[in-house]
Amino acid sequence: MGCGISRSRSGRGGLGSGDEVRLDPNRVRSVYSNLLAAYGRQGWWPADTSFEVMVGAVLTQNTAWTNVERALGRLAERIDLSAESILSLDVEALADALRPAGYFNLKAQRLRDFCSFYVASGGLDALSRIETDRLRDQLLAVKGIGPETADDMLLYAFDRPVFVVDAYTRRLFSRLGQLSGDEGYEGIRAAFEAVLGPDVAMLKEYHALLVRHAKEACRSRHPRCSTCSLRSDCPAGLDAFPLTQGD
Ligand code: SF4
Repeated sequence: MGCGISRSRSGRGGLGSGDEVRLDPNRVRSVYSNLLAAYGRQGWWPADTSFEVMVGAVLTQNTAWTNVERALGRLAERIDLSAESILSLDVEALADALRPAGYFNLKAQRLRDFCSFYVASGGLDALSRIETDRLRDQLLAVKGIGPETADDMLLYAFDRPVFVVDAYTRRLFSRLGQLSGDEGYEGIRAAFEAVLGPDVAMLKEYHALLVRHAKEACRSRHPRCSTCSLRSDCPAGLDAFPLTQGD
């Protein structure tokens, strides 16, 4: 059945910090508690080591996680998952291993760039000693690492209190009437962090729950509003499926 959702805007928007974004703190917290009640803890990030988190963050750009898992599996069959071993492969061999992740030539080069940075910086222990804003700047200086990837790494590999903004965040909070959808990345990140504070476990869980909800219910096309646990306070969902006496 078609759904008359019209509030979502797909534009990623700029990355600047010039725009101040205001979110309703109660709404941000209630979405979290609601999704946690609906789906339970997600236990992210699905990786064995911090380095594997970072590799996954590079590979997951523009592809589904299942494809990343296949690529990581192929890579692990050929080498151990360390920056030095990845750099020991020539770029063609690396690209071949990463084939399931899509854009494999580009991702092979990006992964090599990241591994070069990682080794030159002294590895995990050295990077872990760098203060969050400076570490973020250093990650962003690596070619191919944008704000979302850097924040994935900061949150899930370095346990830093950052909120990851992705297309799912924009879609959901646009439909909830909290965002217009074209705000800058930094403005959205700052607004969520101001509400949620430095609770790393919660920030990890929140992002994972948003991804789960976007895949299971708040999909780009044909969202499942009629059974969504957020519908009673979602303008877009109520437009599409008004509450009835039975709700
Ligand atoms: S009711 Fe739920 S699925 Fe529908 S737009 Fe709102 S949040 Fe998304």
